[in-house]
Amino acid sequence: IIIANWKMNFLLDQAVDYVNDLVKKVGNKTTVEVGVAAQDIFLSDLVKLTSQSPVRIIAQNAHWENFGAFTGETSPKALDNIGVDYVMLGHFERRELFNETNSTVNLKVRRALNNDMNVIVDVEELEQVQSVLEGVGPSQMEKIIIGFEPTFAIGTGMSASTKGAEEVAAQIRKTLRKMYGPEISQATRILYGGSVNRQNLAGLIKQTDIDGVLVGKASLDFQSFWELVKII
Ligand code: 13P
Repeated sequence: IIIANWKMNFLLDQAVDYVNDLVKKVGNKTTVEVGVAAQDIFLSDLVKLTSQSPVRIIAQNAHWENFGAFTGETSPKALDNIGVDYVMLGHFERRELFNETNSTVNLKVRRALNNDMNVIVDVEELEQVQSVLEGVGPSQMEKIIIGFEPTFAIGTGMSASTKGAEEVAAQIRKTLRKMYGPEISQATRILYGGSVNRQNLAGLIKQTDIDGVLVGKASLDFQSFWELVKII
């Protein structure tokens, strides 16, 4: 699985062109799961463009309640309702710049799961895994993907070493094993994120416990993102 995290980039026309290109290139290919995490304001259009395609459109955040007096927030129920079935939660930038904590991320994870959405929950450290998954039952784990994004590697051009990334991914799997048993821990997908590029991708993806990647900067140009998809 490879996900382009656009963060707060692009205007609508650029987003539409990019996803149109992606839909064309991906075709019916499902051996690699390709996703795009886009700003809320583009989601409705992008979901329509991908209705016949395996390309996934992902929200970058959602609130922990479905409705209510939460000015400026986005409801997970409303996302689900417009056809967005993947939401990314707990990204480092949400934690660092918008004061999200393990406990708010956990509330969001649980609400999204209650809406039957798929969740990519991001952690920067192994210690966060247990907290963000608190109260998530074994039967809900098939909807969870873990994104491991070490702080020092995000947007810095300094990726974790292949070995370092694999070590943490293996530890995450071990933690999942303690929490949910061997079958669920094996089946849960663990993604690495942080300065993924053409040089380091092949090595990362070969690792036993890394099932995919989250790509920020190197996803902002369609052609360079497509080169990465081809490596996977
Ligand atoms: P960069 O690839 O720019 O380091 O960003 C990683 C990221 O935040 C993906 O979610």
